[in-house]
Amino acid sequence: MKKYTLSMLLILLPACLLTGEKKIMIKSHQDAIALLPTTTQQIKKRAQQAMSESKKALDEIIAIPSEKRTFDNTARALDTASLKFNSLTTPIQALEYVHPNKEMRETAHEQSIMLNKFSIDTFGYNLPLYEAFKNYYKNNAPREKLAKTERYFLDESMKEYKRAGLNLPEETRNKVAQLSKELAQLSQEFSANIAKDTRTLAISKDQLAGMSDDFINALNKEGERYIINTTYPIYIPIMKNCTVEATRKRMWELFQNRAYPINKDLLEQIISKRDQLSKLLGFDSYAHLDLDSQMVGSPESAEKFLKTLIQKADRKEAKEFQRLKADLPTTIKLIDDKIQPWDKAFIEERYKEKHFNVDDEKIAQYFPIQNTLTQLLDIYQQFFNITLSEIPVSGLWHEDVKLIKATKKDGAVLGYLFLDLYPRDNKYTHACEIDIKKGQIINGSIDPTVAIVIANFPKPTAKKPALLKHNDVVTFFHEFGHAIHDILGATELSSQAGTSVKRDFVELPSQILEEWMYDSEILKKVSSHYKTGKPMPEEMINKIIELKKFNSGGFVQRQGMLATLALQYFKNGEQKDLDEILKNTYNSIIKHGLFDSDNHFYASFGHLTGYGAKYYGYLWSKVFALDLFEEIKKHGLLNPEIGEVYAAKVIGKGGSDDPNNLLRDFLGREPNQKAFLRNLGL
Ligand SMILES: [Zn+2]
Repeated sequence: MKKYTLSMLLILLPACLLTGEKKIMIKSHQDAIALLPTTTQQIKKRAQQAMSESKKALDEIIAIPSEKRTFDNTARALDTASLKFNSLTTPIQALEYVHPNKEMRETAHEQSIMLNKFSIDTFGYNLPLYEAFKNYYKNNAPREKLAKTERYFLDESMKEYKRAGLNLPEETRNKVAQLSKELAQLSQEFSANIAKDTRTLAISKDQLAGMSDDFINALNKEGERYIINTTYPIYIPIMKNCTVEATRKRMWELFQNRAYPINKDLLEQIISKRDQLSKLLGFDSYAHLDLDSQMVGSPESAEKFLKTLIQKADRKEAKEFQRLKADLPTTIKLIDDKIQPWDKAFIEERYKEKHFNVDDEKIAQYFPIQNTLTQLLDIYQQFFNITLSEIPVSGLWHEDVKLIKATKKDGAVLGYLFLDLYPRDNKYTHACEIDIKKGQIINGSIDPTVAIVIANFPKPTAKKPALLKHNDVVTFFHEFGHAIHDILGATELSSQAGTSVKRDFVELPSQILEEWMYDSEILKKVSSHYKTGKPMPEEMINKIIELKKFNSGGFVQRQGMLATLALQYFKNGEQKDLDEILKNTYNSIIKHGLFDSDNHFYASFGHLTGYGAKYYGYLWSKVFALDLFEEIKKHGLLNPEIGEVYAAKVIGKGGSDDPNNLLRDFLGREPNQKAFLRNLGL
């Protein structure tokens, strides 16, 4: 996952500031380290500096007389200001995720909220700044000789201004601002309700039949009863393995009703206000507004994309269902030839056990963390023809954190990457990548990127090696892929650098790289048994590859259903019957799953606020990722020649061109769904 901190807001709203000598330049690894404040005073000082310098720089842009406006003193000056602001503030946000000290996290949190508000008011809803920019765009820009990337920057920024409502008369603009604030508040409450929902069940030991002793012993107890809740480490294993149908059913009901009914009312308000907002901004619906800035362009084309894909998935899913049906556990009953929702994971798990005989733990024995990380970095070095070397440093926010320097073969530094890979109390619990300083090309040379990769892998101890699950290996490769996108993606305008791309494109480069971890030659290279040092046997590798296709039809149906649901909820119309739409969408797409009326999943579908109508983006980027991957694979997954072409034509461009053009340029044709369908056996 790509974690957007403040910088995202500055892309959603126009990008943006600063003058020559005040530029933050990274000349050594010490400069990279120095980006991260080490005391609470320093956090506050940097926040103040970010605000006062941005204010000053933007005021200077506004003060320029119209006839003297140029790309450099207006658009580029805004870009420079934005880079400075982000380089000072994103590290503060990152500290909130990783710093072990409570005071540091709290200060970072409170300062980030303030900076967030500041950036919206000062960079986003700054009317004089918009007027200055528009004035230049309309009057002077057409006469100036500009590069294609500069024109693209101007056009995209003007579109962002329009989507933010800056072009509207004052009264409408105020309504837009009011609705946006209300929506921000409602979205925050919606997410908080999901996070706060801690419903539990207290059940006896027999109701946990099928679960391992380790699992049961780790549960909290109330007298003789065991407490189970809806967190993933408890929910998933129970749905997969508990042999008591009543337990799975109760658990499923609990899970599907998280944040219900409280979030039903909130979601209805969000849908209604987003619809009003989109109309004020001149769009047919919120989905139209939300997708206008994306690769896909419109809800109509997103729907068409999903429909085609789901149709293809249906055939495969029908086969998957027949296969499961022919081999059902004796305790399972189908209703109207459909699987009850609380039986699905259980049935699939039994089938896998019987026919695949793969054990995650056995696979993990081939991925001891040290060797695996070394091998993964080596793949990146070979394919992209770069050098990744660890720089011994101390005094970072935690002793586990490592620093990697990325250089080109000629020695030019591309970037510095902090790796914070092990879990500890109060650290961000998922995996993500954060760029804390964008790379930039200045007079032909690179001012390096600085980024952090965060993960939570098992930590080795003196007695026990840490063994990664295959899934962890894929996760690391994925997150490091975002970092590579950032370090190879330096551009002249920092707002276009690396991962500053459209939301439905940003996961594409990382999703391509995931495919390396399903290739037999690469798996042989990466794996090494922690005792014998032997690579993974062919048979095990084949099973990993085969399992990927195991329920791909059902997977696409499910993802397609979620994406369609998000589009339906944000279609034209203020009032929506949430339950009716969920039921109809589910029944029209999920062919062999029974819809249960106790399903109020939308109340905990957190992506409805953050991603809005854009949930289709998961499948969208996967489809094009696989198209590019097949092209790359023809030349070899460790072939630096194709690696360099891919870097130059796709990730190296960052967001300086429409991604549709980047894909076309690399492929030499229009991208299509064929590779995706082949890869998933559809
Ligand atoms: Zn990602």
